[in-house]
Amino acid sequence: MIQIVGVDADDTLWDEASAFDWAETKFVDSVASWCGDPDVRAHLRALHYSLLDRVGYGPAGYRTALRYFCDDRVPTQFREAAADLVQIICDDLDKAAVAPLAGVEKALEQLSRSFPLILLSKGDEKHQRRKLEASGLSWAFRDVRIVREKTASIYRETFGDVPAAMIGNSIRSDILPALEAGAFGLYVPFHRTSPLEQAEPPLGHDRFREFSTLQGAADWLCAYPEGRQGQR
Ligand SMILES: [Mg+2]
Repeated sequence: MIQIVGVDADDTLWDEASAFDWAETKFVDSVASWCGDPDVRAHLRALHYSLLDRVGYGPAGYRTALRYFCDDRVPTQFREAAADLVQIICDDLDKAAVAPLAGVEKALEQLSRSFPLILLSKGDEKHQRRKLEASGLSWAFRDVRIVREKTASIYRETFGDVPAAMIGNSIRSDILPALEAGAFGLYVPFHRTSPLEQAEPPLGHDRFREFSTLQGAADWLCAYPEGRQGQR
């Protein structure tokens, strides 16, 4: 029987991708004319990815990547304007509103009646916790773990030896390492996948399932033959 359920945060409970899309577009539109680079977006992404081990996910790391990009590629006479732009964009990202996706509260209510729920998210600890509080969803979770990367060993540590399931929108972070750790991987795709998170779905794996909504995953878990429907 499944005894514990992990739930991803960004783009599973709320829309995070749109805020980063907005930030990237605003930066690219302004900076392209200053540095005469026709492919600012690709170069910025390459720089950001190369820095992830050092700066981590989330706005703090993104801010560092934008600053490095400006130091490296923006001509001196535009550097001050570029630094101001980075500050405005990243301050807005830090304060972005966090609204639960449609149907998420109801699905969490159902899940939390049947399973202990653990929020498992990667990124900056303070920022991820602020978003959880701002979302109004923290009541649903028995525990919250913010990690640098979601690896199979993180899932083993989090779930222990009991049968478990992980729900999330990222094949790379929520599904593949959870399956490797022996848990179910319940995939709820979001309409946009970060280029950092792209991976092939493990179609045919006996513990992989895909749902169009979090509610679909909740219904499946609660009806799972050995699920603990109706228990706290
Ligand atoms: Mg996610």
